[in-house]
Amino acid sequence: MEAGELVPDSVVNEIVSKALAEIDADDDLAGYVLDGYPRTTSQADYLDTIATIDVVLYLEVSRETLVERLTGRRTCEDCGRNYHVDFDPPAEAGVCDDCGGDVVQREDDREEVVTTRIEEYEQKTAPVVGHYDGEGLLVNVDGEGSPDEVWTTIRETVAAEV
Ligand SMILES: [Zn+2]
Repeated sequence: MEAGELVPDSVVNEIVSKALAEIDADDDLAGYVLDGYPRTTSQADYLDTIATIDVVLYLEVSRETLVERLTGRRTCEDCGRNYHVDFDPPAEAGVCDDCGGDVVQREDDREEVVTTRIEEYEQKTAPVVGHYDGEGLLVNVDGEGSPDEVWTTIRETVAAEV
């Protein structure tokens, strides 16, 4: 598998199926959010057979914003905390605020890999939007704002729909 390409559907479906079964078995959990799944219409068809979906949020951002966000992302090698070179840098360049680990750019976030990820998205994931629009579950969310603004919109949207 080349860097930036998607994991096979059967593998991802099995992981999600196991995770949802554990959630269903836990009486303390009222619900869940799937982030980054389903990424293909085949995964969406599978999800329809194992779960009832209340709402699907589609965070709309321009390609320019997407590239800026992804290529600017930096990740702590030790604890996994995410930073952004412009919007949320560590206090000392290259050093994690939380654990002192090295803050680096992941292979997945390099510009050429980001371009591959966006092309994969356009081919395989964009049709998923149509899948949920057809089921009347899709809500478009403006994803261009700050993380706080987008988070507020997401919380309000979910509260209104669930
Ligand atoms: Zn760290």
